[in-house]
Amino acid sequence: MAEAFLAEVDAAITNGRIAELSSNSGGIKLVWSKTLKTTAGRANWRREQIRLRSGPLPSDTRVEIRHYCSIELAEKVIDNEERLYNVLAHEYCHLTTFMISEVRNNPHGAEFKSWGAKVTAAFKTRGIEVTTKHSYKIDYKYIWECVACGYEFKRHSKSVDPVRHSCGRCKGLLVQTKPCPRGGAVDKDGKKQSGEYQVFVKENFSRVKKEMDRRGEETAMGKVMAAVAKDYKKMKAAKAKEVESQVDDLEAAIEGLMI
Ligand SMILES: [Zn+2]
Ligand SMILES: [Zn+2]
Repeated sequence: MAEAFLAEVDAAITNGRIAELSSNSGGIKLVWSKTLKTTAGRANWRREQIRLRSGPLPSDTRVEIRHYCSIELAEKVIDNEERLYNVLAHEYCHLTTFMISEVRNNPHGAEFKSWGAKVTAAFKTRGIEVTTKHSYKIDYKYIWECVACGYEFKRHSKSVDPVRHSCGRCKGLLVQTKPCPRGGAVDKDGKKQSGEYQVFVKENFSRVKKEMDRRGEETAMGKVMAAVAKDYKKMKAAKAKEVESQVDDLEAAIEGLMI
């Protein structure tokens, strides 16, 4: 699978030049590594010049250049097909930078970026994007953001309920930002329009703060946000005509899941 994809990229981007250049050393070797953990992949390249005898006379020699290249893949980091392909595409661009552009001292420089742009353009539909980063962001389907501290809670499933859950760091209100919920659409200026929670915060923040002031309570941002969140939860609960005896406090659980 990995070999086939690499061959496809090589054929599309350089007409198979990397395979050709490395053919006398066995082609591009793929090595799955158990120990590679700091990065998802690593490209290795080395060139050897070999003088070969081509006839009976001492001067009958020719020079053969062998390109040894391999791509190491981190078993522990690459956990799905899309990531595998992205890592391969990135490392492949290192090989073209070394072997075709002959740039060896600037691994993520202009030449790398130009190869990256070519690969990205050709394989975009397959989810490939070559960046200059070696850490590959996990693409979570769902993201909630804390409106107070901005921390993002990323999940593969819809496991956070902003009405019942609050930010594990500051108890702030959580707002779903991906997929963009209804009411959170982008307006014509490209600015993100506020969702229901954000509107509630905007409308109630100063009122809650004043009330807390009057009661002589601490009115630090986080404290007010927590109070606003509480109000919002109350309002939602009342709206749903569901009397929740207790608001689940899953902060600890959320904290524990932060990776
Ligand atoms: Zn790189
Ligand atoms: Zn927060």
